[in-house]
Amino acid sequence: MKKDKIIFDLINEEQQRQEQGLELIASENFVSEQVMLAAGSVLTNKYAEGLPGKRYYGGCEVVDEIENIAIDRAKQLFNAAWANVQPHSGAQANAAVFLAVLNPGDKILGFDLAHGGHLTHGSPVNFSGKVYTPFFYGVDEETGLINYKQLEEVALREKPKLIICGASAYSRDWDYEFIRAVADKVGALVLADISHPSGLIARGLLKDPLPHCHIVTTTTHKTLRGPRGGLIMMGKDFENPFGIKTPKGEIRMMSSLLDGAVFPGTQGGPLEHIIAAKAIAFGEALSDEYMDYALQVKKNAQAMAKAFVNRDYKIISGGTDNHLMLIDLSNKNITGKVAEEALGAADITVNKNMVPFDKRSPFVTSGIRVGTAAITTRGLKEEHMEIIVGFIDEVIKNHEDETILSNIADQVNDLMEKFPLYKG
Ligand code: PLP
Repeated sequence: MKKDKIIFDLINEEQQRQEQGLELIASENFVSEQVMLAAGSVLTNKYAEGLPGKRYYGGCEVVDEIENIAIDRAKQLFNAAWANVQPHSGAQANAAVFLAVLNPGDKILGFDLAHGGHLTHGSPVNFSGKVYTPFFYGVDEETGLINYKQLEEVALREKPKLIICGASAYSRDWDYEFIRAVADKVGALVLADISHPSGLIARGLLKDPLPHCHIVTTTTHKTLRGPRGGLIMMGKDFENPFGIKTPKGEIRMMSSLLDGAVFPGTQGGPLEHIIAAKAIAFGEALSDEYMDYALQVKKNAQAMAKAFVNRDYKIISGGTDNHLMLIDLSNKNITGKVAEEALGAADITVNKNMVPFDKRSPFVTSGIRVGTAAITTRGLKEEHMEIIVGFIDEVIKNHEDETILSNIADQVNDLMEKFPLYKG
């Protein structure tokens, strides 16, 4: 077959973009070369519907071994009692959990998308808000911290079947114990979606939801630094296996409900090439090297937050406990949309983001979200955070000046040249 030059040229172009620029999108990272190799391996050819040892296809002996290793490593990494490594993405992992534990129309309580939550936690444009009946909690306007009082009030009033915690744009840790206590009062299950900080949680740098929340989901490609994908886990509750009543009134074990909700409930054949890449990433995340990385991600985020505050930028909640921060640009006379575009012209990639109580639409927004997971993989340290914030400030102040933006792009490219991405 003739090599598809059009696509491979574009892939090269994208690689160059990634190598030359400053990647500050909080949900992105750079996988290792071995993760990339597995993701592009012959395993993409294999069908393997079902679970290891219980497949609907022949020839699964090898992929069974790979998937079992991925499951074992995920359990070891998160100290989980049970794991399913098949979800194709974070949204798919959440869809499977909802299918397993809810009936259409059931009430759910999630963190408001407009305050930093995720679409799959009940947004009206997502299946979670269309199929189920969503209620929300948000952050306190003064402090920018989760309003736990509101969470409890709404839970006691609405008695949801599922309470979801976790976020896409929240820079602080969570009080999982409190949320579980609220859930117990109303007979709800708790889902912790730790998609963003899961790498930091795995290495003990943030609170652990597994002892408190019935079910935990995560993407595998953010701080965890694996291939794009999802993962579902259960901790302590599964050690004392718990069940749930199906619409027919039978009690089914949660693990088998969740397995069934992934396949055949919401997915077909698992992506065994991605599962192999996940297994490698979990193995990497168990290493001392990754521990150093995770510590550095946090140090960099804290140094970056401090540098922003020193330049009179308003960080929601005043700082960060994890790898990201949400910056309210209202005092800088620029929208999130314009800031994202101007930063892009300077080879700095961020995403515009609504800030809590934002008066602008999600297409315009008043803020940007930035994170340190990807730049820390490149090797950047605390001393570079001040330089980066200097670049960002210069862009924001001069966002209409193309010469300045191009000059910053040159400086960004010079800096990133010192931190090669893929050496091989
Ligand atoms: N949950 C949270 C909290 C997220 O931040 C995201 C992605 O940004 C997802 C779920 C969805 O993950 P995916 O894009 O892999 O479907």
